Amino acid sequence: MRILLTNDDGVYAPGLAALHAALKACHQVTVVAPETEQSAVGHAITLSDPIRVRPLGPRTGFAGFAVSGTPADCVKLALHELLPQKPDLVVSGINLGANLGVNLLYSGTVSAATEAAIQDLPAVAVSLGTLRDPDFSLAARFAAGLVEKLPQLDIPPRVSLNVNVPAVAEENIKGVRFTRQSDARLMERFIRRTDPRGHTYYWQAGETMGSQGDLTTDFPALLAGYITITPVNHDLTHLDTLERLIKENPF
Ligand code: MN
Repeated sequence: MRILLTNDDGVYAPGLAALHAALKACHQVTVVAPETEQSAVGHAITLSDPIRVRPLGPRTGFAGFAVSGTPADCVKLALHELLPQKPDLVVSGINLGANLGVNLLYSGTVSAATEAAIQDLPAVAVSLGTLRDPDFSLAARFAAGLVEKLPQLDIPPRVSLNVNVPAVAEENIKGVRFTRQSDARLMERFIRRTDPRGHTYYWQAGETMGSQGDLTTDFPALLAGYITITPVNHDLTHLDTLERLIKENPF
């Protein structure tokens, strides 16, 4: 397959290199990724500034481009300008840190996959559940295996897969669960400091927290040691409420 590989941690992120190494054995992989870290930019696209593109040199060890925009910009540019042919699959990651629950809205990693799905391509986002001392090897191997299994999973158009891998040794992985999004979200905590000029600034220092126990949802399942796979689509409509409002329409 021709695979477009992107991420939100930037083109020099170790998670991207690990995924590239795992996929290149069997596939033709092109990297189009942000030149700097774009974590938590969500599905932002760049409209008011130019987007610069730089071919990746031999130092990176892979073919492709660094882009001065967001993950969604990378996918759009790759599909419409940079790649000679449409890829068969878009893979995003491996992100440093899980992407679970409500936080999917903030995630650049997930948004790159969502963007690909919107553009009618199969897409997978992969994240590792730690923020420090990451070992991406298991997540990379799992992602490469998942890519082979995709046809069997029969994912419909415009649906992507959001994969989270616990940061534990392989023998401690409990299994793979298909999950829905949990209520986990970043619980805000701002650290207030003073800069060298005497001005106050703030630094987001919140942690992701959520309900525990329900292993049909992503956050508890990951905490319990399962690899989680959540099918995602971009439609934010709440169907139950819509149906009721259509019936009760007071206007
Ligand atoms: Mn990130």
